[in-house]
Parts: sequence; structure tokens; C-alpha cells
Amino acid sequence: MRRGLCPGTFDPMTSGHLDIIERAAPLLDELVVGVAFSPDKGGGPLFTVDERVELITEATSHLSNVSVRPFDNLLVDFAHEVGATVIIKGLRAVTDFEREFQMAQLNYRLDSRVETMFIMAIPEYMYLSSSAVKEIALHGGSVQGLVPAHVIEALTDKLKESR
Ligand code: ADP
Repeated sequence: MRRGLCPGTFDPMTSGHLDIIERAAPLLDELVVGVAFSPDKGGGPLFTVDERVELITEATSHLSNVSVRPFDNLLVDFAHEVGATVIIKGLRAVTDFEREFQMAQLNYRLDSRVETMFIMAIPEYMYLSSSAVKEIALHGGSVQGLVPAHVIEALTDKLKESR
């Protein structure tokens, strides 16, 4: 049984995240999407962790071997908790490399039994990030195609709520 863990903040999930999950799932018996609380990232997440879990659960409902769980502890500890031996990460432009390289090295040092593997972003999603999506939506731009349809709805509601 090979179980993988795909961690992130997913605030909110984008088409880029979904693409990585859809490409990783067939390579594994099971894939757990780990949603980090990340209270400090970028001034705090827009969506609560439960909302982020719900949005990903809906987006991945067609993938029978994918489950979604929140986590607030060290990534390698969470990997053990869910029985995952491989961490799956998406890699966008070179700008991601330095940070991801550092995190992979540190996680390896913390526990060499958990391997980190990378899947390259497709060109279409290379420059797509949750923060860009929020920025566009906040200023009334269209995020059609950048996030799943139900995430557009959630974003619209959330931004109305926070005005
Ligand atoms: P963001 O950087 O958008 O806030 P997260 O912290 O939630 O995203 O990232 C979780 C994982 O998803 C990371 O490995 C990140 O590199 C990857 N990822 C984010 N956006 C994309 C994308 N557009 N294409 C491929 N991978 C991505």
C-alpha cells in the first residue's frame, strides 16, 4: 500500500493544485491532501480550514483514492499519522525551487523515511497561485478557469461577507 501526502494551504484551491492532485492520484494507492491551518501565512487565510477542506473535497469527489484532512503539526509527523511515505509537491517557476528545495532537505533531515517528490506545473498554471487568485477576485477581475467553478462561488460570497 503506497500512500502519499499532498500538503498545502489551499487558500483557496486553484486549478493548479487540482492538476497536481489529479496527476499524483493514479501513481499511488491512496493520496491524502493535507490542509495546513497556516494562521500566519500572508496575514492569515481568507477561508477557514474547514471551508478549505470542503472546497477540496468537492473538487476531488471524482477521485476515489483521494481524501482531505486538516493538519497543524510538523509535516513529517502528519505524514506518519496518516501512514504516508511520500510527500507530493507541485513545482511552478524557478521561484518555487529554492523554498521547496530547502523544505525537502529539512524534512529529509527530520525523517529520511519520508521522501519528497515533485510534479512540474503545466505551463498554463505555471504562474497561478492562491494569492494571485485572491488579488484578482478582490479587484473584481474574473478568475474563471483559474479555480474550479464552486470555488468562484465561494470566493464571491467570502469577499461580499468581508466587505
Ligand atoms: P500557494 O503557493 O498557491 O499559496 P500552497 O501553499 O497551497 O499554494 O501550495 C501547495 C502546493 O501546491 C505547493 O507544492 C505548491 O508549489 C503547489 N502549487 C501551488 N500552485 C500551483 C500551480 N499553479 N501548479 C502546480 N503546483 C502548484
